[in-house]
Amino acid sequence: MNSPAATMDALNARIIACERCPRLRAYCAEVARIRRRAYADWEYWGRPVPTFGDPQARVLILGLAPGAHGSNRTGRPFTGDGSGDFLYPVLHETGFASQAKAVSRDDGMTLSGLLITAVVRCAPPANKPAPEEIRNCAPWLDEEIGLLRDLRVVVCLGRIAFDGLLAHAQRTGKLTSRSGFKFVHAAEYILPGGLHVIASYHPSLQNTNTGKLTRPMLLAVFRRARQLAGLE
Ligand code: SF4
Repeated sequence: MNSPAATMDALNARIIACERCPRLRAYCAEVARIRRRAYADWEYWGRPVPTFGDPQARVLILGLAPGAHGSNRTGRPFTGDGSGDFLYPVLHETGFASQAKAVSRDDGMTLSGLLITAVVRCAPPANKPAPEEIRNCAPWLDEEIGLLRDLRVVVCLGRIAFDGLLAHAQRTGKLTSRSGFKFVHAAEYILPGGLHVIASYHPSLQNTNTGKLTRPMLLAVFRRARQLAGLE
């Protein structure tokens, strides 16, 4: 039997090769070809972004999608853009990340007890994936969550991630109805079977620059996630 790390690596290799969404694949390749002037000397990743972190995680972060010049450039979730600059220091302070600064796939960052994924793994134009693209990518999420035997808590960053998690729970028979689930920052739910779900605003610049999501708010979310996961 393969180790959890080898199994997750094999899944990630299949994700990186995925071509299910022609619009997104074309957009990512085009962004990688043209590049932003500030990153002219970067070789953009330009492919589906694999999950990152601890394959035996108790906590899963579910995000929306890669940023065109963030993880579509670096190849790692939340790495190289404003969302990551806000998120990783919080993950470092709450004991999930080995360092606060995330700049590239080879910056030495490791995660402990935490895995990061997204409902869509290719950067969408205007950060808006089509419903069909979210559905295309959903089987990858089902497989990832299926591999996490010790999973206790999912932190959903943003409403689309929250809806994606509930859709996963319905597809996999863990949930029959979504009634009673409402996306509110810091709201907590327990799915039948015991999986905890925490809703959080996404650490996008739109939210963090306007003060809709502050550092203390996000710190509280991840401190609570540690507590619920029994990682205190
Ligand atoms: S968004 Fe997901 S399903 Fe679509 S091409 Fe990328 S990895 Fe594949």
